[in-house]
Amino acid sequence: MNQTNRRGFLKIAGLGVLAASVSKIFSPSTAEAQAPKAVDEKEPLAQSLGYHADAKKVDNKKWPKHAGAEGAKQHCANCMFYQTKDPKAAEAPCQIFAGKSVKGAGWCNSWAKKA
Ligand code: SF4
Repeated sequence: MNQTNRRGFLKIAGLGVLAASVSKIFSPSTAEAQAPKAVDEKEPLAQSLGYHADAKKVDNKKWPKHAGAEGAKQHCANCMFYQTKDPKAAEAPCQIFAGKSVKGAGWCNSWAKKA
């Protein structure tokens, strides 16, 4: 390999390494691109707020806010803390459970009607 060929090879190799690094930084496998971890009903905050992934399973005697006809209309998808603009999203981040997602069909005692 002569001097000119070696320089050309090094330039191409350098660009290849740069391209691989850039694609790794912006690939969907980075933490930012990953969906937030789902809230576990058994974690302490979820238990203290009565979170259930399925609002139909909420014990309305223990959580009277969810009782009655008005309570039956409450679920994460129509809560002000549900962070998505997609009304059909089955799961989205919740401001109460920072960095985690909840089910649209879920409910917790912090429910507040979306404006
Ligand atoms: S605050 Fe709202 S969106 Fe979050 S878990 Fe409770 S009901 Fe669902």
